[in-house]
Amino acid sequence: MSAHPRNFAEGSERSPLAVFDIDHPTHVALVEPDTAFWGLVRKEDVSDALAGGALRDAFGEKGDDFAREMDMLRFHLKPSAVYFNATERCNLNCAYCYIPGEMRKRGKQMDTAEVLDALERLHGYFRGHMPEDRLPQVIFHGAEPLLAREAIFAGIDAFREKFRFGVQTNSTLLDEAAVKFLTERGVGIGLSLDAPVEEVANRTRKRWSGEGVSDHVLRAMKLLDGYPGYNVICTMTQENLPYLTQMVEFFHENRVPACMLNVTRCTMPGAREVNGDETQVAKAFVAALERTHQLYKETGRKLVVANFANILIAILAPTARRLMCDISPCGGGRSFFALAPGGDLFPCSEFIGLPHFAGGNLYRDEIADVLESEPFRLVTGRNVEDIEDCATCAIRHFCGSPCPAEAQEMNGGMEKKGAFCEFYKEQTRYALRLIADGRHEDFLWDGWDEGAQTSCSIGVG
Ligand code: SF4
Ligand code: SF4
Repeated sequence: MSAHPRNFAEGSERSPLAVFDIDHPTHVALVEPDTAFWGLVRKEDVSDALAGGALRDAFGEKGDDFAREMDMLRFHLKPSAVYFNATERCNLNCAYCYIPGEMRKRGKQMDTAEVLDALERLHGYFRGHMPEDRLPQVIFHGAEPLLAREAIFAGIDAFREKFRFGVQTNSTLLDEAAVKFLTERGVGIGLSLDAPVEEVANRTRKRWSGEGVSDHVLRAMKLLDGYPGYNVICTMTQENLPYLTQMVEFFHENRVPACMLNVTRCTMPGAREVNGDETQVAKAFVAALERTHQLYKETGRKLVVANFANILIAILAPTARRLMCDISPCGGGRSFFALAPGGDLFPCSEFIGLPHFAGGNLYRDEIADVLESEPFRLVTGRNVEDIEDCATCAIRHFCGSPCPAEAQEMNGGMEKKGAFCEFYKEQTRYALRLIADGRHEDFLWDGWDEGAQTSCSIGVG
């Protein structure tokens, strides 16, 4: 892996450098969009940097390597993870859920034999292309996986040497015994909480009866206190935006190792009703990030906001990024896929409520063939360069114009722009401002760049 340069200039055969204003007092960014190379230059030096000199020479030397890296990341990955939906059912009715209500009420659920059979088939597939020393990842994902607790726990025990496991749960069924089982086996655990104030948290995450569940999440957080392998997702909606800064204070106070402040994916109509205005979302998001930084300075303890850390890493070392929504094509159907309880395979869980996006079935088809199916190709072939507006955007490889499911359902087609353009632009401006000010390491996991190399670094001028 190679870290990208702090400064660079264009190679003669590449796109011209684009000037990207980051709202910084002294610096602007110059970006070579096709390869996601960037540089920060003093405003008074922009003309010289565009004309040539040391930066241009440095980029000329390394440009082909960076282009190859980007090509590998975008077009030559093979899946190494699966989102395993052992059940379609859920005991909650959250406002923004991407799984249709009828499915969550009466959908299919796997038994133990089916989970074990599915894991065996998946293991056979991953072993075909992954090295022995790298375990593929299985994330038991929602609806609510712990409704099928017996089956998935049997799967974890039977396959613990063959997969790395994770569980994304709404916490309502995560009792002491479940926490003991999962933490003893090193299983990653994701929880969800939308606000530190019970009344606000319960507006978006609630049971079918309307009763909120934040008390369960708080109990689970206490049980997990000290476990490094857990995180909490907060979905940003118009309901909780005013509480976002308080939310990160709450996470920090409760020693949450990492959190995500996610935009609302608007694939289903219910989500569009609670989705916040994106300028407001961006403002609240940056304020919350600034608060995490203050808390770090005050206490020496970081609260990493993982989805923002991923944007920073995408800028600093694109191939080291961990989340795959912000790259085009996105990770759906190429770095991972999703399994539904009946065996149907989808490019991503986000498509599970859209039956025509099933590319085949685990029990009837070869996974390699499913990856080449028409529904998968629609997603894996969605290139940001083919989207009007995005084709000329300087930061198109820090954003990726997500999400294809959302674009299809909300904007009328995959060729349409993603839902959070302004949010991505502001995130990228902020990330580059942090780099210009030398503060970016404070927002990243310690050791995030282990294994990454800096192949060209001239330093911020
Ligand atoms: S952008 Fe959408 S479809 Fe792609 S990985 Fe993210 S959630 Fe899934
Ligand atoms: S959605 Fe907006 S920020 Fe993202 S690539 Fe397209 S134009 Fe750029």
